[in-house]
Amino acid sequence: MAENMRAVIFEGDGVVKCVERPVPALKSKDGALLRILAASVCGSDLGITSIPQKHFATPGVILGHECVAQIVDMMEENPEFKVGDRVLVNPMIPCGDCAYCKVGQVNMCERVGAVGEDCDGVFAEYYAAGRSSLYHIGDDVGLDTAIFAEPLACVMNGFKRLGFMPGQNVLIYGAGPIGLLFAKLMKTSGASCVMLCETRPARLDFAREFSGADRVADTSSEDARQVIFGATGRYCADIIVDTTGSMFEAAIAHAAAEGKILLFGINDKASQNVRQYDITRKELQVIGSYATHLTFPNVIKLLSNNVLDLKPLLTHRVTLEELPDGIEALRRGEAMKVVVYP
Ligand SMILES: [Zn+2]
Ligand SMILES: [Zn+2]
Repeated sequence: MAENMRAVIFEGDGVVKCVERPVPALKSKDGALLRILAASVCGSDLGITSIPQKHFATPGVILGHECVAQIVDMMEENPEFKVGDRVLVNPMIPCGDCAYCKVGQVNMCERVGAVGEDCDGVFAEYYAAGRSSLYHIGDDVGLDTAIFAEPLACVMNGFKRLGFMPGQNVLIYGAGPIGLLFAKLMKTSGASCVMLCETRPARLDFAREFSGADRVADTSSEDARQVIFGATGRYCADIIVDTTGSMFEAAIAHAAAEGKILLFGINDKASQNVRQYDITRKELQVIGSYATHLTFPNVIKLLSNNVLDLKPLLTHRVTLEELPDGIEALRRGEAMKVVVYP
């Protein structure tokens, strides 16, 4: 095996570079060396590389946490995993010791390691993983579909926490990749009407063609209340999903009585003037959702059943050298999902 590999690192202050790095060494008995087959850019990678920086990452770290890979080396084979297996990686590395880990709430771990943020990630030719973070994914799921597993596992965690019922109306804020995954999953699961709100023209055009939503609204010019009325005959929606991290106030206004609001998007700079009375008076349920919790196995089954048509969401295919440009295309709103094949 080669000693060095190409990897895309975050240098700090918005600088992203493709450089040479040593192939990572396996340190523990449960370690597995993976060859990265495909990796994709997430919204959090945009946050890390924006100026000012909106999402934490250690300068010098190899970026990337969404991937499909193949095991090429293991310290010890075991009954579950062997060299040659095709796998997905859960990018949260829980400490195993804190009070949350001890009761299985591993996505709430107090000392969680985040792949591609504070430990080296998957925008590289190779990545050293712990076996406990791996999930098998069969060859029947094409690379361009399998690459959606991690974001879909996060979306499914939100879905699970919502307790969604078929027949409900759903309003989604934000038509980025996460908004589109919610729209497709809601529609496939029997939502009566799925409405997507967005303000960026390129994302609106894309959502109208590929989201499967019943109504895609340009809320820079359209009033969400009228949009909901036009689509459902009521002025409010049963379920509101905010993928932007900054629409809580609007979500409260547009939720039906006894409705549920899922706050999914991450924006630690957003703060809002919320009138608590509205939540009480309408008996709303406000639900947060963070990362993944026990949803990878269901996502893998869903992907292999091929009920969601995800391939159109993959708009940009790049090499590691081209990846910094791919991240910029995503920032400009030109790309939906950018995938690198190292
Ligand atoms: Zn992600
Ligand atoms: Zn922990």
